[in-house]
Amino acid sequence: MLIDAHCHVDQYTDPTAIAREAERDGMVVVAVTNTPIAYEEAVRHLSRYRGVISALGIHPRVQRNSTDLLGAFLRLQGRATHIGEIGLHYSGLDEAERARQRRILEEVLRATHRSNKVHNIHAVGAAEDIFAMLSDYKCRHVVMHWYSGPTRLVDELLSIGCLFSINQAMMRSPKGRHIAAMLPMGRVLTETDGPYVRVSSAPARPRDVELLLRQLAHAWDLTEGETEAQIASNFCGLTEMG
Ligand SMILES: [Zn+2]
Repeated sequence: MLIDAHCHVDQYTDPTAIAREAERDGMVVVAVTNTPIAYEEAVRHLSRYRGVISALGIHPRVQRNSTDLLGAFLRLQGRATHIGEIGLHYSGLDEAERARQRRILEEVLRATHRSNKVHNIHAVGAAEDIFAMLSDYKCRHVVMHWYSGPTRLVDELLSIGCLFSINQAMMRSPKGRHIAAMLPMGRVLTETDGPYVRVSSAPARPRDVELLLRQLAHAWDLTEGETEAQIASNFCGLTEMG
């Protein structure tokens, strides 16, 4: 079973074609969303495909009226098993905007941290604050998506139980490969971050996680089948944790 732990299925030109493909391939695809409205749409159109899990998100870069977004998030969170994309995006933004993002994330975590929901976290230029907030809330079901922060924080994030989902763009950069190599096998997930990340000049599709499996199999000295089973078991462990 192939796992795409972070894919913006709703952002493709034909989202249902992507969902149908995932079902046909027997994959599990976490369809992250950027707003609660997009989540409701995803539930309506994508969740009927086996293996496609709609995740409720408020992307930190969403600039619209954040009070409305938060209200909608809180109203819907009870039925979502996966939360994301949420997080902090500091790069290029001033302190007022950073503080606004922190307030939203604070409310989100306050509402969800005691649940078994899986949190799909974006952290760009904000790894320290993310680590502090996840620690404060004792969030146990966390996937760091495309982690690009300081390498010294990787061990700290591992120590509070985080998993890391890696993608093709990450594996193209020396730092990304270095971070991937620091991770124990039991804490790695595969993702595409499609359609934003491209593979051979086309938007990545969920099935492209196979390329990552090949790289991981090589690094871990396992067969591709064993690697696939390891990633699947990591994902199942995450969703079954008490
Ligand atoms: Zn994303």
